[in-house]
Amino acid sequence: MNFHLRAAVRKFTVRFSVACIAAIAALIPMVATAKESRVCTARTTLRLSAPESSQGSLLLIDLKSAKPLAEMQGEWGGRSVPLWSGNAGENQRKGLLAVDLEKAPGEYELKITGQTAGGEKVLCKAMIAVRKGQFATEKLQVRKQFVEPSPEQIKRADEERQKLRDIFDRVTPERLWDGKFRIPLDGVTTGSNFGKRRILNGNPGSPHGGADLPGATGTPVHAAQRGRVVLAEELFFAGNTVVVDHGLGIYTFYGHLFEIDVKVGDTLETGAVLGKVGATGRVTGPHLHWGLTVERARVNPLQLVKLLENE
Ligand SMILES: [Zn+2]
Repeated sequence: MNFHLRAAVRKFTVRFSVACIAAIAALIPMVATAKESRVCTARTTLRLSAPESSQGSLLLIDLKSAKPLAEMQGEWGGRSVPLWSGNAGENQRKGLLAVDLEKAPGEYELKITGQTAGGEKVLCKAMIAVRKGQFATEKLQVRKQFVEPSPEQIKRADEERQKLRDIFDRVTPERLWDGKFRIPLDGVTTGSNFGKRRILNGNPGSPHGGADLPGATGTPVHAAQRGRVVLAEELFFAGNTVVVDHGLGIYTFYGHLFEIDVKVGDTLETGAVLGKVGATGRVTGPHLHWGLTVERARVNPLQLVKLLENE
């Protein structure tokens, strides 16, 4: 290699490394932009239990601040997000971002606003993607009266649906639960059918909004957490049903009960027996239909048990 060639190579190497630095420099803002879809002011940080969500799922929000926080509000896709003080007291807020089973996939902005105890404004923003849920389709044969209800039965079912909607619309401002949620049947660790699209006697029905837990008739059903009974009656589709309000827009639903052991207005502690497993309503056999609604979004209750495991 003569001198000139060596100089040319060196020159090329120098140029190449300069080009590399330029390319890396160009990459840095790109990486930062990807991270910057999550922005917080006033020395607060926002962490989520997963970077994106899917239909019927929950994300746990963890907001930490260098300064004590005063009142904070969360909003996502036009719905408010329940927030509460975490273990770090006033320097932390935890929250639940609930994605309804039928929410359209896409990107939605999470916005948390409020102020520190010293009056400084706090704003946190993040874009959160919703993916399509992976739900099975099931074909079921049930008694004809449930597929082709009479006009009176349709009227009854519509009224009951509206009654439930009105209940889930009400947000009790205080948190009635404390700590982790439990699965309502002793010894049961999993459930099935959440989100399943159902075809009843050949007709597509609405998606299955809860988890079905296995249990023999008469098995005690326990409250998943502390809360107040807001419904305890027989419904056309769900049979004997109990709904418990846990506060902050969080409700658990217990359906197809053989018997109801509580009444509206009762405050239940975690684990209190609220009824027995049965096969009342639209069912093919005894089991517990366990539902969870957070800010009107139908989500998988088994996921809440996992997410709040360490609370
Ligand atoms: Zn069910």
